[in-house]
Amino acid sequence: MPEITYHAGAPSVRVSTRKLNTEDSTGPHQPLSTAQAPLFAAQVFQELNTLGGEHYQAHARSGRIVHGRYIKGSDAPIMISGAQHANETSGVVGALRAAQQLITRKNAHFTISPLENPDGYELHRRLCAVNPKHMHHAARYTAMGDDLEYRSAENPGEKAIRTKALALTGAKLHVNLHGYPSHEWTRPLSGYIPRGFGMWTLPKGFFLVVRHQIAWTQQAEKLVDHVTRHLTAIDGLVQQNNAQIALFEKHAGETGFRIINGFPCLITADNNYSVPITLITEYPDETIYGENFIHGHTAQMETVLAAYEALQKYIEQ
Ligand SMILES: [Zn+2]
Repeated sequence: MPEITYHAGAPSVRVSTRKLNTEDSTGPHQPLSTAQAPLFAAQVFQELNTLGGEHYQAHARSGRIVHGRYIKGSDAPIMISGAQHANETSGVVGALRAAQQLITRKNAHFTISPLENPDGYELHRRLCAVNPKHMHHAARYTAMGDDLEYRSAENPGEKAIRTKALALTGAKLHVNLHGYPSHEWTRPLSGYIPRGFGMWTLPKGFFLVVRHQIAWTQQAEKLVDHVTRHLTAIDGLVQQNNAQIALFEKHAGETGFRIINGFPCLITADNNYSVPITLITEYPDETIYGENFIHGHTAQMETVLAAYEALQKYIEQ
């Protein structure tokens, strides 16, 4: 990907190509529950290790390792993942915070891979060092230039972290944490918006996407009801949703979402998924810092915890 950096001095342009490498940017560790900015990869790895359990892994194109941990217990298991799109960073913290709470349960049973796309994540760190408030859409992708979710079974690369998690657990629920722009995203007349990204140009609150196999329709509805009810307890979250949705509707018309307990939701049947129910979160987290970032990873964490509870109560009955 073209990475544009600045140098002092008279205007000139130098273009060079670089080999892939596995070196990560480094920076200060943050207290996890009050992290005000995306974590550096070394801290993600360290926090993951404190969970214990069984380590499993996959490889990114650069040679970086995608790490997962399997905590085995007698509860119904879930799969937790973050940073499929590596510029969506609140899910990484939210996944780790949720896992730290889940392991205190007696029969906790889950897998966690908080950083599925480590090549994109390092690109995001480098781009943020120059422009901390840009979205850095390029860092969404892997070093193959693709979205890891759509890899083929023959050449899974990073995606093998999911097939391994599924083989370990046989989970019926995958909670996949994402984010999207926190502010309007346009560059008039430039054709800036990539094809297929029109619906992502304006924030519309913390919303949930559910993709479920057809036989799991009822359970998916129960899950969304339970999770959204739980999320209403987060201070200011429904109000933030309402404010963003009101702005969206003023400029762009109907959101096209179902509003369930104050949360925009998109629930679709899709038999192509190997896990019966996938819950995808979308927090408007791109370019937020400080208190706003803490609110973001708190919402992500609470979603995982509520989904875990819903699975035990309603889904695996
Ligand atoms: Zn995403």
